[in-house]
Amino acid sequence: MNGMLFEKLPLVNEISSPGRRGVLPPSADQSERRAARAKLPANLRRKAAPALPEVSELDAMRHFTRLSQKNYSIDAQFYPLGSCTMKYNPRINEKVAAMAGFARLHPMQESADIQGSLRIFHDLQEILKQVLGLGGVTLCPAAGAQGEFAGMAIIRAYHRDNNTGRDEVIIPDSAHGTNPASAAFAGFKVREVKSGADGCVDLDALRAAINDKTAAIMLTNPNTCGLFEKDIKEIARMIHAAGGLLYYDGANLNAIVGRARPGDMGFDVVHMNLHKTFSTPHGGGGPGAGPVGVAERLINYLPAPHVRKAGSKYEFYSPDRSIGKLLAFHANAGVIVRALSYAMSQGGTGLWDVATYATLNANYVLNNLPAVFERPFGNLCKHEALVTVRRISKEKDIKAFDIAKRLLDLGYHAPTIYFPLLVPECLLIEPTETESKETLDGFIAAMKQIATEIESTPDVLRNAPNELPTGRMDEAAAAKALNVCCQWGDVPMA
Ligand SMILES: *Cc1c(COP(=O)(O)O)cnc(C)c1O
Repeated sequence: MNGMLFEKLPLVNEISSPGRRGVLPPSADQSERRAARAKLPANLRRKAAPALPEVSELDAMRHFTRLSQKNYSIDAQFYPLGSCTMKYNPRINEKVAAMAGFARLHPMQESADIQGSLRIFHDLQEILKQVLGLGGVTLCPAAGAQGEFAGMAIIRAYHRDNNTGRDEVIIPDSAHGTNPASAAFAGFKVREVKSGADGCVDLDALRAAINDKTAAIMLTNPNTCGLFEKDIKEIARMIHAAGGLLYYDGANLNAIVGRARPGDMGFDVVHMNLHKTFSTPHGGGGPGAGPVGVAERLINYLPAPHVRKAGSKYEFYSPDRSIGKLLAFHANAGVIVRALSYAMSQGGTGLWDVATYATLNANYVLNNLPAVFERPFGNLCKHEALVTVRRISKEKDIKAFDIAKRLLDLGYHAPTIYFPLLVPECLLIEPTETESKETLDGFIAAMKQIATEIESTPDVLRNAPNELPTGRMDEAAAAKALNVCCQWGDVPMA
């Protein structure tokens, strides 16, 4: 399965042969070209032909096709990257988003001319309101982190309008790094609370952190340990009783979509990542979307432009107390189209299945890994399986990092490692709902092989990857000596 990935390819210059060509159409008018060239100053004119590779059309096609197949991708391989929800995104959604009526719209077109697209915005807002259990949804934010910023700006505006003087945000130590960054960027002070031994928020630590400056708590649920916060209702009660608001980092909605709703848990503001749960391919840094849902009392603060239905027409408007614009235009529109196509093709029961199988698959992995992969928080998880190798890292000096590198040799993308920060030497494995039992069994078999190698051939792990075209990089040098690393072929090796 991975031959293509590991095969060392020649450079296109190495397969070059003088005089070999593809099909070249004759140029339209030789005399015109000569006249144009004559106008170039003599010192800028080429003395010799450029040293381009000379290959046949077929060789060029095969070379670049092989290169493209060296990409590790969801289309070809399993991608268990924790906290990222790297699931298969149905092709139908790509086709719909690429239809000329959507792809060729201009963002400055008049509302009257784009009623169909406004309806798509409106309908997706309505669906997400149901999914989140909240009164209003904006589709403006272009990513999860921007959704967090928008949500925190809304909370800030709310406290300002109500003269509460509250400027502190409580964030558990298991949170995604974007949470404290977004809160600080929106002007808040950040107060961290420690997790308990069970990986959930410690209620005593939370009680001690709440005071009359508490503006909000930012909570991820299921949290980054892959656990559902069991005291969620009590946490909501405590924060609300103290005059704060509840912010829900719903980037991991894949675990609960269609089954549990943040609004029902008491949350006031929620962001979700359409590029994780609602079918936009990501991982290459492409466009995403981080819609934000809010409770009724915050709808007036939503960013502009917002889409609403007025009679039989759809229109943009700016809510009275809007926090303003987040982007030059409306949203990453193609992502919105994909999400609506996905939601409608799944339907309510389909979304319920997403959460069911995402959770089942993660638990299957968690409970079938060999014992060296210890489970810090018991045998049950939600959409991702967190394990740690802290014992063998002490006893045998084998790190989570070594295991991640060895998985590359065995044909698997490494899971997320060293996150969440509160579990040392951890691996966070998110299989998602779209993978089959056979694929999960293959991954588990690779982890079993690694467990054997820890005993028999530990150096194979310490030196991994051994079988890729590139060996282990000196990661410190790669970060510190950029000018060296940028020279092709000059990447320092350990
Ligand atoms: C992915 C993720 C984010 C950030 O989302 P981006 O779209 O990458 O900005 C925030 N929180 C959690 C828990 C995430 O998994």
